[in-house]
Amino acid sequence: MAEPSDKINLNNPSEVARETLRRLAMRKLAPTPDNYQSLFEEITGSPTSPPANTPSAVTVLAGLVMDLNLHHPQLADSANALDQSIRKGDWTLSRKQLGQISRQLIPKPEKSAPAMATPPADNLALLRELLAKTLEFGVAAQLAHSPQLAEKALQLGADVRIANSDSTLRDAAGKLKNLWVNIELQGSDMHEQQETLKRILLLLVENIGELLDDDTWLRGQLNMVQDVIAGPMPMQSLQEAEKRLKEVIYKQGMVKHGLREATSRLKATMTTFVNRLSDTLAANDEYQNKITTHVERIQGTEDVLELNRILESLINETRIAQADNRRAHDQLVHERDSAVQAEARIKQLETQLTEMSSLVREDPLTGSLNRRGMEDEFAREAARADRHNAPFCIAVIDIDNFKALNDTRGHHTGDDALVHLVAVAKEELRLTDHIARMGGEEFLVMLPNTPIEGATKIITRLQRSLTKKFFLDKNEQVLITFSAGVALRAKGESQEASIARADAAMYVAKKTGKNRVCTAPDAPAADA
Ligand code: GH3
Ligand code: MG
Ligand code: MG
Repeated sequence: MAEPSDKINLNNPSEVARETLRRLAMRKLAPTPDNYQSLFEEITGSPTSPPANTPSAVTVLAGLVMDLNLHHPQLADSANALDQSIRKGDWTLSRKQLGQISRQLIPKPEKSAPAMATPPADNLALLRELLAKTLEFGVAAQLAHSPQLAEKALQLGADVRIANSDSTLRDAAGKLKNLWVNIELQGSDMHEQQETLKRILLLLVENIGELLDDDTWLRGQLNMVQDVIAGPMPMQSLQEAEKRLKEVIYKQGMVKHGLREATSRLKATMTTFVNRLSDTLAANDEYQNKITTHVERIQGTEDVLELNRILESLINETRIAQADNRRAHDQLVHERDSAVQAEARIKQLETQLTEMSSLVREDPLTGSLNRRGMEDEFAREAARADRHNAPFCIAVIDIDNFKALNDTRGHHTGDDALVHLVAVAKEELRLTDHIARMGGEEFLVMLPNTPIEGATKIITRLQRSLTKKFFLDKNEQVLITFSAGVALRAKGESQEASIARADAAMYVAKKTGKNRVCTAPDAPAADA
């Protein structure tokens, strides 16, 4: 029944004083010396022989006097008088003085105030004091990382201490709620920021091998991370940076792979080319030698028959050499053509990255819209919705545990899974809806003329249909799930803002277990 007192440092008078106050308040006891005495004994655990250095009830009361002096200078006289009587051990007088002090601390409720079921005034004062202390010593001290919030906690502590009317109390309660919300938000934001930063750094470190041969790009990425770290770090821009980095690393990896292949093909071709060339030269050398021999033989004979034979042989050798030369020439032309082709392929791969984002509206892998296509369609649908005052919903969809799928079954299977998702989505959605690949394994579904309830239903239905229309990897059924955030675009709301809201809802879906659809709260009303 007794509250545990094992966490209290019995040698610390202010801790004992605070605990005494707490128990008084909890049990709604009047702050009389007797009550102090019995609670004090309960806390220190020994009425007869307190351990050395344990404060006495008198010390505890002296602590209260000190608090009064500190925080209620207007009561200094009464506090000092109380101090005198405590020192003299005059409990009757002390009790009277305590009563007076508590009446001065807690003025009579305002006449107009509605009759509330408030605790007795004395206890209310104690509770207030307790709350103020908690805010000052507990909360503010814990908020060292956020001076603004600490300042707010301190200010609120001061407000609470002088809140003596119904309305000021209500006001303080409102501020208190607000403070908690802020502390909670900050806590989760900071945690997420740290996690995201850690992931970005990991990504960079893990991919450094891949990126080293293009160090200008790597430097660019590092600069971006530095900028992100140096500036204020709203979660949204951090997450955006992470997403972009992943996407670029992935694409770079693909293009690099293609480049490496094409380059080694070119090298092989060049080697063959050079070999053929020297073969041809060697063959020509041989022919020259033979001709020289024939010339010597011609010079050394006068026999016409012999000359005839030499001539025949010479013609023969020349024919062979000509055939060799023609073959060599053809081969050289062929090799040169392959080299030119390989070079062209390299150029094509090099420009592919820029082309992908600037020229094309469609994602070549999945056939969904790409980012550019998404932006065009979004702008068109948003304008139409605004014109007709029609609801326009969007959903951010992110495949769950996609990295694991890639890691265990390979990138090709990952790619096939993306294709499968888009195919199923196209079957489920209406012709007027759109699906776009925002990057990696993340998609945006646009649902014109659809209210938020309907949109949530459609995305949930798509989720369900994925459990029926299995993705097949080498005849094996693989379940693909996604997390989604649905948002109703507010009239005039920008693409970035509405996607950010859907994205935030998607993150909630991720954090609360994945394979879920969460709805974003409405956009805050636009400023008039
Ligand atoms: P979560 O459930 O939290 O969304 O985890 P996740 O693994 O799906 O997400 P994460 O962002 O950690 O990993 C996404 C992976 O998607 C990383 C990247 O290698 C891979 N990826 C990005 N684009 C492509 C692509 O076009 N094809 C394939 N196969 N994989 C891709
Ligand atoms: Mg993702
Ligand atoms: Mg994912």
